Amino acid sequence: MKIGVIGGGQLARMMIPASINLGIELQVLAEAENSSAHLAATSVGDYRDMGTVLAFAENLDVITFDHEHVPQEILEALTARGKSVQPPASALALAQDKLWMRESLSKIGAPLPKWARVSDVAELDSFIQAVGGKAIVKTPIGGYDGKGVRVVGSASDASDWLSSSGSTGLLAEELVPFDREVSQLLARSTTGEIKFWPLVETVQREGICTLVRASQQGLFSEGVQNRATEIAQEIAEGIGLTGVLAVEMFQVGEELLVNELAMRPHNSGHWTIDGSVTSQFEQHLRAVAGLPLGSAEMTSSAVVMANIIGGKSEVFYSGNTGDVETEKQILGGALAKAPDAKIHIYGKDARKARKVGHVTVATESLPESERRAVAVAVALGAENLS
Ligand code: ADP
Repeated sequence: MKIGVIGGGQLARMMIPASINLGIELQVLAEAENSSAHLAATSVGDYRDMGTVLAFAENLDVITFDHEHVPQEILEALTARGKSVQPPASALALAQDKLWMRESLSKIGAPLPKWARVSDVAELDSFIQAVGGKAIVKTPIGGYDGKGVRVVGSASDASDWLSSSGSTGLLAEELVPFDREVSQLLARSTTGEIKFWPLVETVQREGICTLVRASQQGLFSEGVQNRATEIAQEIAEGIGLTGVLAVEMFQVGEELLVNELAMRPHNSGHWTIDGSVTSQFEQHLRAVAGLPLGSAEMTSSAVVMANIIGGKSEVFYSGNTGDVETEKQILGGALAKAPDAKIHIYGKDARKARKVGHVTVATESLPESERRAVAVAVALGAENLS
């Protein structure tokens, strides 16, 4: 079987080992020669160009994605040619536009923060008043890692975005006083089968996820865990999702409110490579191919994943190495800190505020897993962790 992945980032890269084990041929349409996923059979081209994507898809059995930005008309053209596009274009549309996502989730009945579409100063000011004097404003398209998200106390704080948003407008939301941010990951096969990983806690700094905590016990009440799977299942079935879905939510007391959806393997599920019977990358391939799903049980009691944001350039690079001795020294120093740490390097150049790798540690204790994962990530140059 041949599966094509559009986008050559770290998500495509981490699908490669899973595809090798399953005997699936993985082909990637990447943005550049030195993409994270260049280790797979890679074509280089623009995913926004109809001809390029159709030519890429020619001999493939299933098309799936490393990101959600492929234009709708291209997804529809692939489908019209009989290609199996997973997740389908109609589901991906929600991840491309935060306003459309909010509208669709409202129809499904998912619990949401108070929100409104605002197109001018008067609308935004009256929304801010209605939610108590402070709101969150988001650009509906193209935001990631907190870019395109702003806290505002008056419409003038977002006048630049308002004037460039035209008739589409902006998404305004109440500022949720959450206790913590959580993510429910599931996979849904083209056959309709669903598997859930346990609910995890995500920690963000300056809009970027730094840590993910997963535990077999004690992290969440049974009520919150059950509510999370219920919400995620309703969404996955409601939008006809296939593959991996991450439902990012805010926990307020025992309540959950949906923030965002990601329709692909997600940062909050990287821990599953080293801490679950089936990783999210293997499960995604199984799900989009219509194969039976694997067990999503944890293999250790307490797993922590620390993102490496920034990174040391001697270890995190996309082209040729520099001084091998220095690279060995840094990598070796980090590995020596915790023999049970699993390091994942994405083959990207080190850059401030950029995710270039992650470290996972699975032990019997959450604080211990966290301490070791953070120590290794910091030794590799992670910002935002100390
Ligand atoms: P992105 O698409 O850039 O990841 P998000 O919508 O997930 O943007 O927002 C980034 C971060 O901003 C969230 O992880 C959360 O910490 C904060 N945030 C977003 N929406 C709200 C909200 N309504 N209330 C409080 N905090 C929010």
